[in-house]
Amino acid sequence: MDELRAKGVELVAGSVTDPAGVTRAKYVPLRRLGDFQRSGMGVSPSWSVFCVDSGIAFTPTIGVAGDLRIRIDPTTARVVDDGIAWAPGNLTDQAGDPAPLCVRSLLARTERAAADRGLTALVGAELECTMIAPDGGPASTGPWSPYGIRTSLEHSAFLVDLATTADRAGLSIEQIHTEYGHDQLEVSLAPTTAVAAADAVILTRIVLGRAAARHGLRISFAPVAFEGAAGNGAHLHLSLADADGPLFSGGDGPYGIRPAGGSAIAGVVDALPDLLGVYAGSALSALRLKPGNWAGAVACWGLENREAAVRFIAATPGSPHGANAELKLVDPSANPYLAAAAFLGSALRGVDRKMDLPAEIPENPAQSASAPAPLATDQLSVVDALERSDVAAELLTPEMIEAVVAVRRHELATYGGRPAAETTQALRLAWSC
Ligand code: GLU
Ligand code: MG
Repeated sequence: MDELRAKGVELVAGSVTDPAGVTRAKYVPLRRLGDFQRSGMGVSPSWSVFCVDSGIAFTPTIGVAGDLRIRIDPTTARVVDDGIAWAPGNLTDQAGDPAPLCVRSLLARTERAAADRGLTALVGAELECTMIAPDGGPASTGPWSPYGIRTSLEHSAFLVDLATTADRAGLSIEQIHTEYGHDQLEVSLAPTTAVAAADAVILTRIVLGRAAARHGLRISFAPVAFEGAAGNGAHLHLSLADADGPLFSGGDGPYGIRPAGGSAIAGVVDALPDLLGVYAGSALSALRLKPGNWAGAVACWGLENREAAVRFIAATPGSPHGANAELKLVDPSANPYLAAAAFLGSALRGVDRKMDLPAEIPENPAQSASAPAPLATDQLSVVDALERSDVAAELLTPEMIEAVVAVRRHELATYGGRPAAETTQALRLAWSC
């Protein structure tokens, strides 16, 4: 508390990110920091079925009765704005035990499941996003150069502010660039343990939003922010190691992949149709997840293949963090804790079952005779598949599946039939922090 006071903190926010991927928060004055840890702040179970708009998708088991608490660990609090510190929250019951709807606790359990198998997992996140004008329209109308030095330098004051604020918040940014899409930005983060990686995604979204606001901008984390625009991905990188070293290098398989590493990749690819509703389940996700968008719309893997759902990066001097598997099809409407738990959990499932590494698709799947067809983009069937999935039942909690299915069905019922221009406008800022 003294440290935060010395940094000028007046209010402390504790947030939870819900099954719709929206981050929600409660604040306490700094003097109540200890209460935020010991007792937590009350939230209705309906927080988990709040939708991307103001809708509430009550389910038979998630209703108006009962109470949960958001509890924070004060040592994780970071200054994110003048006078404001933020910490990631766990959702607990009144006794302080993890609630079945707590995505952060689920990811921590998945991390422990890896440790029980003698494995350590590191996760790295990339955040693609779109700069937006204060009125919610396009930030700029001039020509755009993908990865252009001009398009980035025109935002130099914002980018420097972003780097400084991130540094003050203890965030380990690896790289920043202007992306392919008009007004699109990307920030990539250093790999770290799974819960810390998902926490860092939320912190980065907050820091991006705050820095952008100081420069007359807002930030969209919609999978597609404007009709016809390039999509925003939320790619996750995973590396695994056991006592003998990394699973994705040093072995006899392709690119040095060891047998357990091959099984991990196989597990991830195998579970994609079941878990697509977790990775890319929103009413806007199907606009992005199409062949040709570098979004990984095909359930296969390939070395540095941008059209494969799993893009493999081998251990070379060009890869300072070593070999890893990048899951490209995740978009920012996904809850990052849930997406990371599904990614890591499905890798562990592949290891447990000693699954065989499927054949690599080294070229564009659209031009490959052996590649599978692109994943389903009929969102209703994607959500139905998640509801019925034995894999999801194994890796998530029933309450979480029920909540994800409920909020996504609400989105599809509300926005599913509407023109893309209307849906992108309605949901453009839904996932912003
Ligand atoms: N914007 C693309 C996506 O939606 C990814 C582009 C890239 O490979 O960085 O995932
Ligand atoms: Mg990118």
